[in-house]
Amino acid sequence: MSFNIYALIHPYGTPEFDVSFVRPEGLELFWSNYEVAKDEPSWRDFAIQAVSRQNNMKRVTVLTRNDSLSCIDIMTWLDRYGEVVEVPKKNRDEHSIWSGAWTFMVKLRLLGKTVTHIPSVTFLGRDRIQIFYQGQPKLCHRCGSPTHFSANCAVQKCALCGEIGHLAASCAEIRCHLCGDFGHPFSRCPHSFANAVNVPAGGSREANSTGAGAGRSEGSKRRLPN
Ligand SMILES: [Zn+2]
Ligand SMILES: [Zn+2]
Ligand SMILES: [Zn+2]
Repeated sequence: MSFNIYALIHPYGTPEFDVSFVRPEGLELFWSNYEVAKDEPSWRDFAIQAVSRQNNMKRVTVLTRNDSLSCIDIMTWLDRYGEVVEVPKKNRDEHSIWSGAWTFMVKLRLLGKTVTHIPSVTFLGRDRIQIFYQGQPKLCHRCGSPTHFSANCAVQKCALCGEIGHLAASCAEIRCHLCGDFGHPFSRCPHSFANAVNVPAGGSREANSTGAGAGRSEGSKRRLPN
């Protein structure tokens, strides 16, 4: 992976090597490969030290196409990858009209020395949302591979449960887009904003999504000033 390396500096008279990478992903790839290879003989005599680390505070843009999708639910979903550290903001144009996009400040979680990245596309119920931020790796939307994009993806991935190896039509179990638990869809999720606030249990999908809209007009004013 030499094309990831920006510089390899070996200061004269020292036993040190300073490696820098073109992009933050290069550094992450190095750390994850090193974790696998560190006990091999060729690495045993090296002591590896992190000089700089990728900044894991990200300004994350979330694009929605449904103005009643609860921002609380997006935050609940983002929780899997990091901590939302500021009150989210609606992205508005010069006339103060909301574009349907949100900005979240997210402190991405670290797994060892590797940042947990947010996928660039997901579903919350029937709503597709897109996620962007600086340093986000370009991965296949379907299977998460860095070697191809979803148009060329040969992996069968179920849209209902997210498992690989079967399609939605032959899926036996439903999995919640929001909390990741099996056995209920997003519209019945006990962690969703609509269900926590004002929808009686057992409501239909339609009733719940109307509930999300009603909840938003009161809830968002109270809980999310912007
Ligand atoms: Zn793929
Ligand atoms: Zn499935
Ligand atoms: Zn759920």
